[in-house]
Amino acid sequence: MGKKLVVGNWKMNLLREDAKQLSGAMVNMLGACYNECNVVIAPPYTAFEVVRTCIEDSNIELAAQNVFSSTSGAFTGEVSPPMLLDAGCRWVILGHSERRYILGENDEQIRQKLLLSVSSGLKVILCVGETGKQREDAVSDSEDAASRKELLFSPIKAQIESALGSIGEQLIADIVIAYEPVWAIGTGENATSFEIAEIHRCIRELLTRMFPACGNEVKILYGGSVKTVNIAGIMSADEVNGVLVGGESLSAGSFVKIIKSVGG
Ligand code: PEP
Repeated sequence: MGKKLVVGNWKMNLLREDAKQLSGAMVNMLGACYNECNVVIAPPYTAFEVVRTCIEDSNIELAAQNVFSSTSGAFTGEVSPPMLLDAGCRWVILGHSERRYILGENDEQIRQKLLLSVSSGLKVILCVGETGKQREDAVSDSEDAASRKELLFSPIKAQIESALGSIGEQLIADIVIAYEPVWAIGTGENATSFEIAEIHRCIRELLTRMFPACGNEVKILYGGSVKTVNIAGIMSADEVNGVLVGGESLSAGSFVKIIKSVGG
């Protein structure tokens, strides 16, 4: 399984000077040699260069928050996997709920983006998760615990099967799954350890069915209002191999505390 992973998603925040201050403070507080766990940060494209320069002598890696599904051409406003690699980026976040539900990205687009990303040499953090309505419906429409679990997992299963259905087992090592219940993102309402473990176990079972040789090795992160105050409980849940942090990654002090808590 290797080391645990902490990813910071800065979303559409920070001008270059603020991004430089934040990444510089993170490196200083963490120590350039820190490698108890793997750390990835995803600034907006406009801050890539300043952040890349700040982290170049550390073990922190750079991620993008999105990518397009073609290598080059007449796709105004888009950025391709080779462009990300050229900018020093090693990772890309795909399928984030803000892209699915605010920007209208569908499973097929995510599948195409993922396929081109991994075959171009990027590592992918694939976000999946149920909405609050889907969770409520699973509870009200089920008769027992088993059918509740099946109903609850079904939208997440569909997202994973769609995104990874055409991926060869040899590429799966470059993919990380982030379970992010949509109702927990940016709301301050995080899932309980029980709720996290229940879904993470289902994801693990699905991955080992889809990829018998390597499914056990795929990291599964939790994301959704991860904070310094709840990180210990989240990491104690079964099958949690790290976290995807949004709001709290915009504070160097909080993000470094989370990293050190995950790294042990
Ligand atoms: C996210 O952006 O993926 C996220 C989980 O955000 P937050 O930590 O702010 O809920």
